[in-house]
Amino acid sequence: MALTGLQIQKLLPKTNCKECGSNTCLAFAMKLAAKKADLAACPYASEEAKRVLGAAAEAPVRGIALGPQKALKLGEETVLYRHERTFVHQTAIAVNVCDTDPPEQTNATLKAIKDYVLERVGEESRVDAVCISQGGENASGFVALAKKAWELTGRPLVLRGKTVDAVRSAAVAVMGSHSILCCPDAESADELWPVAKENEHALAITAPTLDELAAVAERTKQAGFNDLLLSFQTHSPAERFQTATIARRTAIRDNFKPLGYPTLRFVGTVPLSQQFERRGQSPSHAADLETTVQAVTEIAKYGGVVVLPRFDPAELAALMTLRLNIYTDPQKPIQVEPKVYPVGDPTPDSPVFVTTNFSLTYFIVSGEIENSGISAWLVVPECEGMSVLTAWAAGKFSGESIARFCKEVGLADQVRTRKLVIPGYVAQISGELEEGLPGWQVLVGPQEAADLESFIKAKVVA
Ligand code: SF4
Repeated sequence: MALTGLQIQKLLPKTNCKECGSNTCLAFAMKLAAKKADLAACPYASEEAKRVLGAAAEAPVRGIALGPQKALKLGEETVLYRHERTFVHQTAIAVNVCDTDPPEQTNATLKAIKDYVLERVGEESRVDAVCISQGGENASGFVALAKKAWELTGRPLVLRGKTVDAVRSAAVAVMGSHSILCCPDAESADELWPVAKENEHALAITAPTLDELAAVAERTKQAGFNDLLLSFQTHSPAERFQTATIARRTAIRDNFKPLGYPTLRFVGTVPLSQQFERRGQSPSHAADLETTVQAVTEIAKYGGVVVLPRFDPAELAALMTLRLNIYTDPQKPIQVEPKVYPVGDPTPDSPVFVTTNFSLTYFIVSGEIENSGISAWLVVPECEGMSVLTAWAAGKFSGESIARFCKEVGLADQVRTRKLVIPGYVAQISGELEEGLPGWQVLVGPQEAADLESFIKAKVVA
């Protein structure tokens, strides 16, 4: 739980010696509370102050790092709602493969997982992990598949064996992958945490209820292992939603450490499917819907890792787009570099358009220009990642600032045309822009990017 400035001040020496760079201990405490200073700047801080402030600085949801470079980060969350500050690490998406699937199908799935990339607003999304499930009784097939998946994809694994021995063997076989070992039941945590520790993996613990799960987490932590994930046992979409919310709320609002871990959830179970079957709908349609509903719930409600039952590029695209929307930091708009972008294969005589450097705006406008079939130059000045109207209202997209940018990048030397198309929403800056760029004619384009194609056909290439 975050401490206030006054609470922190009580822990400081209160001598106002100024050695920390602040005039008083209270001023320094206020900076610490706002995370604008480090306690190390006070040479007289007591061990008690270091202990209490260190614990308070810990995120309520513990951070876990997975993968060969430990590049896949989970947890470290501090808020329940994104608008309170930001979410720190997005839900990792894993795809399941089973040791009883035909080898050619498994190979194709692993290759598809490795190659899949979704590019949207300049961001690339990939499948983060591979879940290896043991379907048969023979652990050797499970272990061999885990090894193959690790070698082929280089992604961290979720090792879901039926027994402690099977998980142990797979954990040893993929040491270095920093994967997740799944406990088959609540009791197996005691046997598997030493395996996870020795082979540098994380451990997903499970139990029938949240109280029992918290007890397993506390026991494992006390025993000496704390790289844990929580795997809830729920039996309906409503219970899934409620359990995730209760656990995260308890961890963040009450600072309850035994539930302060990222989660691991499997989707694609059948209760809703059975309900649909009873209504006469096709089981496969119901199962697909069930999977998607569950995955959306996980992404929207604090999921650490969500395991999809199959590789489906269409479903992945939808889920990754949803994830991008939720986990983008609202305080840091996604933006593209300010510069003059070629769209298609423009020549010095190609038309010139202007828009802001908010990624979504840039990609939509450049996409619409491409759709019109012409090549063009797209001038994108620095607007701090704001959309057209917001940037204009903030004084970042004015006639004067656009003219200044065009001069800085030497636009007049790069193109022969002397016409510039601006967004229709900022028609009022056309006069100021023409004043700033003598010899140029400013055309006012449409308000909506969707109307660019018809505008271009009517006014630009006509
Ligand atoms: Fe107070 Fe420590 Fe700063 Fe001195 S250095 S003013 S004791 S906080």
